[in-house]
Amino acid sequence: MGKQINVALIGNPNTGKTSVFNALTGLNQKVGNYPGITVEKKEGICKLPRGVKAHIIDLPGTYSLNASSLDENVVIELLLNKNDKDFPDVAVVVSDVEHLKRNLLLFTQIKDLEIPSILVINMSDRMAYKGISLDIPYLEKQLNTKIALVSTRKNNGISELKELITNYKELSTEPCMNASSIDEAYFNNLREAFPNQLLYKLWLVITQDVNFGKTDRKTIEDVSNFKTKTNADLKRLQQKETIKRYQFINDTLKKGQTIDLKSAKDLRIRFDRILTHKVWGYLIFGIILLTIFQAIYDWSGVPMDFIDESFASLGEWVKSILPEGAFTNLLAEGIIPGLGGIVIFIPQIAFLFLFISILEESGYMSRVVFLMDRIMRRFGLSGKSVVPLMSGTACAIPAIMATRNIESWKERLITILVTPFTTCSARLPVYLIIISLVIPEGRVLGLSYQALTLMLLYLIGFGAAVGSAWILNKVLKIKSKSFFVVEMPNYKVPLIKNVALTVLEKTKAFIFGAGKIILAISIVLWFLASYGPGDDFNKAEEIVTEQHASDNLSEDELQQKIASHKLEHSFIGITGRAIEPAIRPLGYDWKIGIAIVSSFAAREVFVGTLATIYSVGSDEEETIKNRMAGEVNPILGGPLFNFASGISLLLFYAFAMQCMSTLAIVKRETNSWKWPLYQLVVMSAFAYIVALAAFQFLK
Ligand code: GDP
Ligand code: MG
Repeated sequence: MGKQINVALIGNPNTGKTSVFNALTGLNQKVGNYPGITVEKKEGICKLPRGVKAHIIDLPGTYSLNASSLDENVVIELLLNKNDKDFPDVAVVVSDVEHLKRNLLLFTQIKDLEIPSILVINMSDRMAYKGISLDIPYLEKQLNTKIALVSTRKNNGISELKELITNYKELSTEPCMNASSIDEAYFNNLREAFPNQLLYKLWLVITQDVNFGKTDRKTIEDVSNFKTKTNADLKRLQQKETIKRYQFINDTLKKGQTIDLKSAKDLRIRFDRILTHKVWGYLIFGIILLTIFQAIYDWSGVPMDFIDESFASLGEWVKSILPEGAFTNLLAEGIIPGLGGIVIFIPQIAFLFLFISILEESGYMSRVVFLMDRIMRRFGLSGKSVVPLMSGTACAIPAIMATRNIESWKERLITILVTPFTTCSARLPVYLIIISLVIPEGRVLGLSYQALTLMLLYLIGFGAAVGSAWILNKVLKIKSKSFFVVEMPNYKVPLIKNVALTVLEKTKAFIFGAGKIILAISIVLWFLASYGPGDDFNKAEEIVTEQHASDNLSEDELQQKIASHKLEHSFIGITGRAIEPAIRPLGYDWKIGIAIVSSFAAREVFVGTLATIYSVGSDEEETIKNRMAGEVNPILGGPLFNFASGISLLLFYAFAMQCMSTLAIVKRETNSWKWPLYQLVVMSAFAYIVALAAFQFLK
């Protein structure tokens, strides 16, 4: 068997590259990142006739070879670098039958690079609907290529495409038009100066502000110095080039394509008018959003409980069958709950992406962006930030993953950084118990103070997100193109296969990207909570048994006292006590300190830790509350959880980045530790300051 054929899928955004990619590779695909940047890299294997295999890359969508974004850079770098292991033996240019004219611009440029190319005209199922017919043999001749007329939706033309790929050696590498005729003399000079280089590549190097990082440095410098024309002249030539390309394409399509508008039937215009309406548009979007979140809460509750219980019983079961010892504890109390802490996010991730990909696939998302963009842009966010920000109220993990479709890196980064401020469901247990302790029960205008406080906390979270987005937009010096939505794609019934693959891919990305980090941190936290130095920890059982020898405690009560004593003297306990001086001005004692340190794993752990420290069973909510109510402030006297310290704690949890899983996913999505650490430091510092101010002011 020979080597694999390298195939690159290239095309404008939304032409169906990913659908063609899915049709060719099925489940044989993997998704990664291009080294050092956050552009997604999708590759897969396609089995061709006669035992041949092709390695397929789904390149980011690009409008032309004039790079203006990170994504487009990736495409150009690859096409100009013959030494890249992914350099295509054949370029499959995907176009959309409804936008052939615009799509062909890129095709003519790629032809000029003399790479064997196949033109896929996708969405052929739309032709009848739009009254389009094509003269394929004529187009093949004019464009000097082979054409596959494909509908991934109807699964038409894929085997023809595979056949063309298999026989790629028969493709012509001749350009389809002569771009150098825009200035014969100049291009002749260029050809003479660099006889061994591809002419069009030289032209790109001279005119583009591309990062040619991977291509031959020396040549690039030589070529860049060979300008002989002013920049203004070059710009003018470039414009002439584009015009010439469009002239060629128009001429070709005039004969090769006929559009009979009378036979076309289009509802799109009527739909658009309603969905982007100043009142109805927002209303419909609001209803859709609410439905989605309700569904995420309702539908993921059951599987999440199931996962929670399954991992708990798995842990118990492991403990019951393995001999007692450090390894068994590591497995049953460290690794298994750690894995459970990863798996538990899957239902929410899956449901959110189910909805998002349906919204995108159907074409509705572009209308949302159109609607929301004007509002969100004032805060440095994109219209597409609405979905992550709202999903953040369920959980920041899927929400941050949902920023992937924001094209501008700056807008995406800001969305990632501010999303953890929104009130996620893990904050609820903390909020609820503290509110019930420190907020009086009365009502005003029929609304209870406690409910109002909770609502206020949601508003504060949302306000913090939007406010910090506004600041970050001013502060962050990142150049990145803010996309203007030029066109609205057609409405479509979503392809189940595409939706399913998106859900699968996001889930995999989470498990393998962030999962490792979450597992590692949970094992470390487990270790810190289960081990401690000295006799206080190691002889805990003897010490506690002796202390309470005459107290006539039940076995359960004794075990709880021992657990409490151990936690107090474990490494986490020691850390919690060590930070007491720092948190005393906030109105907290060392027990709260321990709970804060351990709830870094996840905010809801706060309540469970306090239960352990107060040695009450963690499922008896009333007892925890009673114990908390009975705690006395060691310095000031009076109840520990009073109005001032309670508000201070609420604000602390509203702002602090108390969630290792979020940090892990931010690391994955930004491809660096810089941003999660930045988030951790800034959010925690802010939380501390606000909590401090609140306590000092209220006490
Ligand atoms: P990409 O941006 O180029 O990767 O395009 P996608 O594969 O994500 O597809 C863009 C949109 O076109 C999606 O909504 C697809 O469901 C839709 N689509 C893809 N192939 C076809 C097709 O053959 N017919 C129709 N009608 N729609 C398609
Ligand atoms: Mg795609």
